[in-house]
Amino acid sequence: MPQFVYFFGGGKADGHRDMKDVLGGKGAGLAEMTNAGFPVPPGFTVSTAVCRIYSEKGKLPEEIEREFFQALARLESSVGQKLGDPKKPLLLSVRSGAKFSMPGMMDTILNLGMNDATVAGVGRAAGAGRFAYDSYRRFIQMFSGVVLGLKAPRFEVILDVVRRSAGVETDAELDEAAFKEVVDRFKALVKKETGDGFPQDTRQQLVLARNAVFESWNNPRAKEYRRIYHIPENLGTAVNVQKMVFGNLGPRSATGVGFTRDPATGAKEFFGEFLVNAQGEDVVAGIRTPQPIRKLAEIMPDAYRQLSDIAEKLEKHYKDVQDFEFTIEEGQLYMLQTRSGKRTGPAAVRIAVEMVKEGLLSPREALWRVEPDALRQLLHPIFDPNVRRQIQPAARGIAASPGAATGQVVFHADDAVEWVKLGKRVLLVRAETSPDDVHGMSVAQGILTATGGRTSHAAVVGRQMGKPAVVGCNALHIDLEEKRLEVDGRSVREGEVISIDGTTGDVMLEEVPTVASEILQVVQGKIAREDSKMYQDFRKLLEWADAERRLGVRANADIPTDAEAAMAFGAGGIGLCRTEHMFFAEDRMPIVESMILSSTVKERQKYLDQLLPLQREDFLGLFRVMNGLPVTIRLLDPPLHEFLPKREHLLRQMAELTLRNVREPKKIEKLEQVLARVEQLHEFNPMLGHRGCRLGISHPEITRMQARAIFEAASIVAKEGGKVVPEIMIPLVGIVREFEEQKKLVDEVARKVEEEQGVKIDYSVGTMLELPRAALVADEIAEQAEFFSYGTNDLTQMTFGFSRDDAGKFLPTYFQMGILERDPFVSIDVKGVGELVRIATEKGRKTRPDLKLGTCGEHGGDPDSVRFFHRVGLDYVSCSPYDVPVARLAAARAAMEEAVQSGAEVEKVETADKAREAAK
Ligand code: ADP
Ligand code: MG
Ligand code: MG
Repeated sequence: MPQFVYFFGGGKADGHRDMKDVLGGKGAGLAEMTNAGFPVPPGFTVSTAVCRIYSEKGKLPEEIEREFFQALARLESSVGQKLGDPKKPLLLSVRSGAKFSMPGMMDTILNLGMNDATVAGVGRAAGAGRFAYDSYRRFIQMFSGVVLGLKAPRFEVILDVVRRSAGVETDAELDEAAFKEVVDRFKALVKKETGDGFPQDTRQQLVLARNAVFESWNNPRAKEYRRIYHIPENLGTAVNVQKMVFGNLGPRSATGVGFTRDPATGAKEFFGEFLVNAQGEDVVAGIRTPQPIRKLAEIMPDAYRQLSDIAEKLEKHYKDVQDFEFTIEEGQLYMLQTRSGKRTGPAAVRIAVEMVKEGLLSPREALWRVEPDALRQLLHPIFDPNVRRQIQPAARGIAASPGAATGQVVFHADDAVEWVKLGKRVLLVRAETSPDDVHGMSVAQGILTATGGRTSHAAVVGRQMGKPAVVGCNALHIDLEEKRLEVDGRSVREGEVISIDGTTGDVMLEEVPTVASEILQVVQGKIAREDSKMYQDFRKLLEWADAERRLGVRANADIPTDAEAAMAFGAGGIGLCRTEHMFFAEDRMPIVESMILSSTVKERQKYLDQLLPLQREDFLGLFRVMNGLPVTIRLLDPPLHEFLPKREHLLRQMAELTLRNVREPKKIEKLEQVLARVEQLHEFNPMLGHRGCRLGISHPEITRMQARAIFEAASIVAKEGGKVVPEIMIPLVGIVREFEEQKKLVDEVARKVEEEQGVKIDYSVGTMLELPRAALVADEIAEQAEFFSYGTNDLTQMTFGFSRDDAGKFLPTYFQMGILERDPFVSIDVKGVGELVRIATEKGRKTRPDLKLGTCGEHGGDPDSVRFFHRVGLDYVSCSPYDVPVARLAAARAAMEEAVQSGAEVEKVETADKAREAAK
């Protein structure tokens, strides 16, 4: 027969730490601590299997009830007390405990076993009637609330009445008689509300409490939590029944919580809080302010020494930071819980690296101790936590790009640039942003928008630039004409200072001081490497990651400063250089505009000739920074109208000129000309319009100019003795002939430049694979293309048929209804989009076994997507420079996990299991 109830006590337990599935996290911890010889009050754990049986049948079979009461009998004889015995009553705590810690489960019941008969025995044993009646009333209060479902305020009211008639302020001042009266009134209330008296049968109390724990598994809050965090419904919760110990027996008793290291900074300092003469729930309730743990050393030096000794052993035992609960009963220490402690990103890195130095962990194990996403926290500026804590946010939007930003509000990108030139710090606030706001975004401290989701332009560019962004903040009402925004009943005008927290999405209508990320300061050369321990630790961890990973990590970077940041974070190349960003530069816009307005090829060529040297300089800058590492350059991608002013804007200008009766025929003529071209270029659906390679096919002269700029820059570098291997990427290919046509142009230019310059240029031509059709004919395309870079942003749009800028209107409903679990623009949709990647990879490699494969979508910085890209066999991922460390760590974990599954290494098996648990 399987075992359903697991005993712990007397230095030995039936279970152990690796039985979280059966015993839940709390039960496994209690068993493990017992086995390790730590002082744990004895008790037993009812397994999660029993919860499943109870959920199914609504009651428990006889055999299990028998096993349950056998365990109770064993507990009773081991401590020499009996549940319900008036002379030597045993009191119990009943606690829920699932595999993953879960809010919404039943609250712990303490002092179970109290009734009219045992209260006297408790008083005698403890030598204090007051304590006995206080315990009894606490029990009635908890049990009635949690098991009988009576509302807590009704009990509070009674306590209040009794306190008042006794003329005191706090419960601590009430005496035995007062608590006796509280008990009587509580019992009367229960009788009135339920019809029955408060249950006096202690075994019935125990069974009711146990079953209530099982029932709490299916309460709506718990269900909701499981849905959000993908916790399986059928895990069930365990129930822990344990002998009570009392931290409220007087000045030599106490209760508290501790961490083996500081969870905020990771410093190796015993960290915790406690309350003298209190029961566990008092610490959490926050009625009394706890004391810092070092005070315990003064008040109860023996217990403190024992506790810090146990803390050290606990950490060695678990090889991880532990977060534990303890109670001291008349000088005797008891451990009530232990679990791995939650920590901030900076703390996680420091702890992992220090534990390797201390010999506690292997470097591989350390990589499982830091969540890749947590590394982001080390890179972004943060608000001064002391100030931030005191401020109530005015609104909350979507936290799109982490970090803290404070600045004067501006509503236009041009204003942002102007103000920054005057030495101001600005925060760009817009309904939404578009490519022609980029110059303003790049100078702003942060970006705040009223609409759009996590993958809106503002969000993507914010992350790309490593700039804090809060998007989709619906509570904002922006009046661009008046240069004013309304939020939370307040009005903020241009120039007023506000703050946004891109980590939480909070918007605050005042200045909040920020502290710059230390690591960023090192990367920018403001702090010497050797002066920053945080940087050293960060670097060390990532070196270990590099030793494990197979997947390359590159960065998406358009300009030399981005490339420098990428290199500093360990990028192995540039996976995507978007050339259109170079067209948006202020000094080029007029040339670009004229180029687009040209009515003949000859005229267009004139302007392209002007752009050529500028574009060549761009590439030269990048190539020099990258110093021989690969650089993938994408030819022009967006539709041409994106480079022209908006139609509405032009119409308004026309109207103004007419109204003011301006007689400047030239100006008007120019406006009319632009307007006509804008109307001609207008598209109903620009995403599916005249863009990508379609542009280069209708305007080969653009492709030629860009290719020439690349090759001329490459030959300059070559002549300087440098090395460069440009990878030229043709965007949005769906038909193999499209690729052929473009490649032909590129090759022709290459030969010409080689002849002119007299240098041989090493280069390759490939495609950005971002159309479903391209994936399906990848074998054909690979005959021509030397590499594929999966453009998973567009591939996701094209596969789902969602435009990512419009998806914000319906995706929230989809998540709410569970139609989609995750945002496919954040984490790759493995089933659909991923399948296309898999097919294309397989087909492509069939025709060209050495086909180079990468990805350059936003997904390259998402750990789960990186895991997928590793498994599907790509050569590299490319992501924003600030995500490079995240991708390096994620790639290492993907490789280690794969080794586990192929059974390659035992050590890896263990660490991966631990990691999966820790990740929940
Ligand atoms: P949570 O999951 O909310 O931490 P717990 O089940 O760990 O809930 O316990 C709630 C409180 O009850 C804690 O402060 C704990 O210390 C206290 N407690 C639990 N079991 C006992 C016990 N056997 N003796 C004394 N206090 C206990
Ligand atoms: Mg709990
Ligand atoms: Mg607890």
